[in-house]
Amino acid sequence: MKSKRKISISLFLIMSIMFIILIVNILMNFRDYGLKSVENKAKAIAQTVKHSLTSHMVNGVIDNRELFLNQIAKLDNIDKIWLSRGSSIIEQFGKGHNNEIARDEVDKEVLRSGVERAVVEERIFGKSSYRITIPYIGTADGTIDCLSCHSTAKEGDTLGAITIAMSVDDIKEVGMTTVFNTIIIALVLIIFILIFVNKLISPFLTLFEAINRVMQKAQKGDYSDRIGSTKGKESDAVASWIDGLLEKLQSTLEDIEQKINVFLVHQKQKKLDPLIDVKSTVNRLADIYRFRKTIEHDEHIKEVYNRLAYVLRVKFGLTDFNFIEADTTHKDVNIVYIEKEIHCQAQEGCRADRTNTIVDSCQFKDMCDKFNHDTGKFYICIPYSISNDLDFIVSIVADSEDEHNRIRNILPSIQDYIDTAKPEIVSKKLMYILERTARTDPLTGLFNRKYLEESVKTMVSQVKRTSITYGILMVDIDFFKMINDTYGHDVGDEAIKIISQTLVENSRESDVVIRFGGEEFIVLLYNCDESYLFEVSEKIRIAFSKKEIPVGSTSFSKTISIGASIFPTHTDNFWQCLKFADLALYEAKDTGRNKSVVFSKDLIKDGELKDEY
Ligand code: GH3
Ligand code: MG
Ligand code: MG
Repeated sequence: MKSKRKISISLFLIMSIMFIILIVNILMNFRDYGLKSVENKAKAIAQTVKHSLTSHMVNGVIDNRELFLNQIAKLDNIDKIWLSRGSSIIEQFGKGHNNEIARDEVDKEVLRSGVERAVVEERIFGKSSYRITIPYIGTADGTIDCLSCHSTAKEGDTLGAITIAMSVDDIKEVGMTTVFNTIIIALVLIIFILIFVNKLISPFLTLFEAINRVMQKAQKGDYSDRIGSTKGKESDAVASWIDGLLEKLQSTLEDIEQKINVFLVHQKQKKLDPLIDVKSTVNRLADIYRFRKTIEHDEHIKEVYNRLAYVLRVKFGLTDFNFIEADTTHKDVNIVYIEKEIHCQAQEGCRADRTNTIVDSCQFKDMCDKFNHDTGKFYICIPYSISNDLDFIVSIVADSEDEHNRIRNILPSIQDYIDTAKPEIVSKKLMYILERTARTDPLTGLFNRKYLEESVKTMVSQVKRTSITYGILMVDIDFFKMINDTYGHDVGDEAIKIISQTLVENSRESDVVIRFGGEEFIVLLYNCDESYLFEVSEKIRIAFSKKEIPVGSTSFSKTISIGASIFPTHTDNFWQCLKFADLALYEAKDTGRNKSVVFSKDLIKDGELKDEY
């Protein structure tokens, strides 16, 4: 109610000042009027005395003037009345028996100057008086010739003066009573106006103060306060509109928050303002929805991982992280996405996957023995169960403890994205497995011809863009039919498995081994020159010749022949190049088998492929 007091005090002060001005004005006017009327009265008496004295003189009864003056002095409000003779009269008649000489300086001045003078003596508490001294000027021109009697006086001389002192207490009393009455009326009026104004503006002030309070709280996010009743018709209407609006806002916010939070597993810590909370939740939902829609249209699981990586990089500001897939059925762990570098040997067993709990480097020194602790980096690995047989581990690495703590705080938000991506990871992983199955030979687990056909396009474009070369080895078991014929099909299959193993063992991670058909294999050697090509080819050949193929309690060994070519050195047509490797293989078979032959153009017989080469 601060404003109310302020307004009341201001109003009181303004009205008081107004009334004080009014009262002072009344007082001044009253005084002027009072003095004027006293002055007029005094002048009238003075004139009367003057004329009366002249009559006394003319009638020769001037000596009886005392009686007359005493009678005048008895009139109301006349305190004193006296005469003072001018020097010419004193000279002619003396001072008189009443010693009618100037009684004070005022008398003297009037007698000297011939100009009347009035003196007012005002006291608020005490007697106030008005004194006027009026000169009698001698003249021969009037109705009565003064100079005929006053022979010593000249025309215009001051013959004498009359002084009348009058009390103005009557007027002062009336003035004081008027002022007092006015003050009382003013006070009553001020009080009445204050009460009236207060009554009139009180509801609006209550409304204003309540709006102030409610809005201050709303500003801080608390929409629960209401204005309520203001004890005024108009102000109550405004209050109910505002309250209704707040009610609607609060319930809508609560409703929205409740409904949208269903979509988010992890609630963010509530801020003070639900409006801001709802806004940020809607933003999060919109982002997540966009992310879901995008990954739905992605074709491969790798794209989903790239998209997730983008979110971690751009949205969460992460710079160093890996994604790890753990096949829980086959106990197969692989790092499937590398943002910056590999920090651990997850393939050898991932602690987060095994324990199914978050592995945080701050929990324990050297928490995970598969992490390379030499770098002194902080890490946090979070396992997410994607399906019954697939776990997805996000491994985030930080350079500082502060960054590590920040990462820990954003984990719930990251989880929202991973939860969203879950169904897509599952379906795309399934598709990937199906596709992989279609591209994998079931007997050996190697890629099949279909895979080769599909990857040729990528290989050709890579070769065109870079100076990378691919060595092609075409491998065929010598007299394989004999195995089937002698030991049966199963032993033949076993031999196929053993050659497959030999090929994988003797090639690098970057190389690709393909079962091309029957007992024929292709090895694509990444970035390979002719000497390395022959070297690897021979290594494989010798390795296989030393392998034992078991048959019951005994075993036997076999040899292979290998034809080799280099793509795009020998030709920039991949299938042509494959044919060249095949020609080299024929050459190896023709010239005694169990050998490696690298393609050369001499191998092309007349009319055969000559034009293409
Ligand atoms: P060469 O030294 O000239 O290569 O003689 P070869 O007997 O190995 O002749 P070829 O390469 O033509 O023989 C292929 C045989 O491999 C024919 C087929 O019966 C057999 N074969 C193809 N696929 C399989 C398979 O999956 N399992 C088994 N056991 N045999 C297969
Ligand atoms: Mg063969
Ligand atoms: Mg063959």
